[in-house]
Amino acid sequence: MLELEPQESLAARVAALPKIHLHCHLEGTLRESTFLELTARDGLPTRYRPGAAAEEEDRSPREPGKVYAFADFSEFLLLFAAVSRALSRPEDYERLAEEFAADALRRGVAYGELFISPSVWRFFHPNLDLQACVAAIHGVFARVERSHGVAFRSIVDLTRNFGAASAMETARFAASATELGVIGIGLGGDEVRFPPELFVDAFAFARSEGLHAVVHAGEASGAASVRSAVEHLRAERIGHGIRALEEPSVLALLREREIPIEVCPTSNRRTGVVGTAEEHPLPALLAAGLRVVIDDDDPALFGAHIDDEYVALARIAGESALRACIATAIDASFAPISLKRSLEERLRSAE
Ligand SMILES: [Zn+2]
Repeated sequence: MLELEPQESLAARVAALPKIHLHCHLEGTLRESTFLELTARDGLPTRYRPGAAAEEEDRSPREPGKVYAFADFSEFLLLFAAVSRALSRPEDYERLAEEFAADALRRGVAYGELFISPSVWRFFHPNLDLQACVAAIHGVFARVERSHGVAFRSIVDLTRNFGAASAMETARFAASATELGVIGIGLGGDEVRFPPELFVDAFAFARSEGLHAVVHAGEASGAASVRSAVEHLRAERIGHGIRALEEPSVLALLREREIPIEVCPTSNRRTGVVGTAEEHPLPALLAAGLRVVIDDDDPALFGAHIDDEYVALARIAGESALRACIATAIDASFAPISLKRSLEERLRSAE
């Protein structure tokens, strides 16, 4: 019998592990082929350049394999916007959720809390029925849960670029959609121009409605942004959070309050937050004693999925560190305790 190469056997072992999505944007999972199909259907460019002449958008690429390209973080945000613009009808969101779920099941995802950004959807399609879109997503997720026993929930991103008033409106929408699988709110977008403290009211309202609260911080901005997300918004988890390393007192705050950080290594490299894969501070974050979970952020756009991230972590820090991160993700999730116990059992029994 041929002996497997160590890397192949690592990939096989990772394939058997349950994957937990805590930091993945549903829109960012849209297959490139589907994006091309939807933009062709609606006569839309594949690029979004606010204020640019129509001709510039018309030069947008349509060649498969070259559409999901960007040079830096701000171009990435514009690509995310272009992808969101392509989703213009409730049935598009149903398809997005169906394709996400099929891909996730194939990769061994066992549970997921997915970000959705309805304020971005409505920015492009003012008359879009948000409730119908979330219902379409939830319908798919409910079917998957019944047929495969894998639960997916939604976290509504308030999208900081639209400002505080819009965030409050979106938080109200999130509170109205708990029957449709919405369990919390998040805060993504331009962290530099829109710091956490602008959104105190929206987060206080959401918490009072029983929603969970998570915040992207310490990605494009430094450690002060992480502190603000914890102290002002009472974030239960921090998206990215890698720049907490710049300030020991912020590391201490995260440790003291046992707040997990959702680290997305390929995303950080592709958006230019870190230089190379070797320069990623993941080992330092683990060494600092933080609760670290690993995810893929916008896997279709970044070209790396959760299983790729798990394999990369195992190579950098070892398989026991990977298993520890999965156990942390189960614990840090907002799943009911009975589901956490069964996910833990699945992790223990995975060879
Ligand atoms: Zn994110």
